Amino acid sequence: MLSFDVRSLESHAAHVEGQLAPDDSVWENGDVRPAGPVRVEGRLSAAGSSRFYFNGRFHGETGMPCRRCLTDVTVQVAEDAHFIFSSVGEDSADDPDVYPFDPHAHLLDIRPAVREVWLLAVPGFVQCREDCRGLCATCGIDLNYETCDCAPVGGANEWDALRAIRDQLP
Ligand SMILES: [Zn+2]
Ligand SMILES: [Zn+2]
Repeated sequence: MLSFDVRSLESHAAHVEGQLAPDDSVWENGDVRPAGPVRVEGRLSAAGSSRFYFNGRFHGETGMPCRRCLTDVTVQVAEDAHFIFSSVGEDSADDPDVYPFDPHAHLLDIRPAVREVWLLAVPGFVQCREDCRGLCATCGIDLNYETCDCAPVGGANEWDALRAIRDQLP
């Protein structure tokens, strides 16, 4: 459960221990979803009138293709998370750590905040290993396992070609 009774939060903090499932309705099209549930742990407490503060961490896993050889890589995503929930219409619209909530709602739903910190924490790309050789740009074989006779493309050779052109200039 990642929803909390606002009234009871006002009188005492809640221990948060929940999961955000990969098929939860909070995820949107295009999101990098977790491979399994994202575990969320922490403490949610009142911080002034109609403001609540979450302090904790989350952990999950996702699968992403290696940017060089396209092999599926399992990525661990774990980070500390802090966010403030504040009633709609208050000053804090510009602060990325502040999430609005409806002051008339009975439940404070922290899933949208968890989704956002998850998306920010997921890396933009991964490599299966530091020295992955990638795929041959010409024939497509995986250079980690095989070799081919294709002429190398890119990298130093492009510069060589440019230098050759420059050398021919008057
Ligand atoms: Zn790779
Ligand atoms: Zn090749």
